[in-house]
Amino acid sequence: MTITNELFEAFLRCPTKCFLRAEGAFPSGNVYAEWVRREAELYRVGAASNLMARLSPLTLGPTKGLLNRSDFDSAIWRCAVDSTVQSQNLQSQIHVIERIPLKAPELSSQFVPIRFVRTNRPNNVDNLMLGFDALVLSQTTGHRVDFGRIIHGDEQTSLRIKTSIVSERARETTEKINKILQMGSPPDLVLNRHCPECEFQSRCRRPQTGATQARRARPTEDGLALETNS
Ligand code: SF4
Repeated sequence: MTITNELFEAFLRCPTKCFLRAEGAFPSGNVYAEWVRREAELYRVGAASNLMARLSPLTLGPTKGLLNRSDFDSAIWRCAVDSTVQSQNLQSQIHVIERIPLKAPELSSQFVPIRFVRTNRPNNVDNLMLGFDALVLSQTTGHRVDFGRIIHGDEQTSLRIKTSIVSERARETTEKINKILQMGSPPDLVLNRHCPECEFQSRCRRPQTGATQARRARPTEDGLALETNS
């Protein structure tokens, strides 16, 4: 199964959410989750538009399409907005890919993934999402992606992030996701701090019995749920 950026993010929030999404489970309805999703989308669109204006004059590249290796080899565009890159079983829809022309003869361009984050303080989930973007972009282009940017918060501050460590952690995370998706049954249900923003909240809140009884988790530094005694 293809691991998309949506499945990747779902896993970082909660392995059960990742499994349910991969299975195509129907959301049980959560008004707050929908509001959070809409706000993030509004921020992304607004920040992308501001970035395009700042980089002007620029050559706007493809939008909302699938970019193959040949699209990068022959690129003359400066920015591709909302484009999708795919390699092996990984796929990411990247908010913006910036192309920086290089003078090195063997490498005509450097590609930089840019991610927009609404909050004023990006967290480890945001960093790992950028790492995932960089990983898939690197595999697609066949070139190293040395750094990416997170543009965040009210001031739309730009944060430059070296991708070597976060990309490696993202790669390790995809291996964990593969294991979960191959299990065929959902992982243990562990309630966590993401539940209020999750579209499956009502489903997970239903009374559980016996072995399926939900446990509680405390957040860890990398955003993954860690089980504790209830
Ligand atoms: S409601 Fe909580 S436990 Fe259930 S899938 Fe969502 S984040 Fe995971």
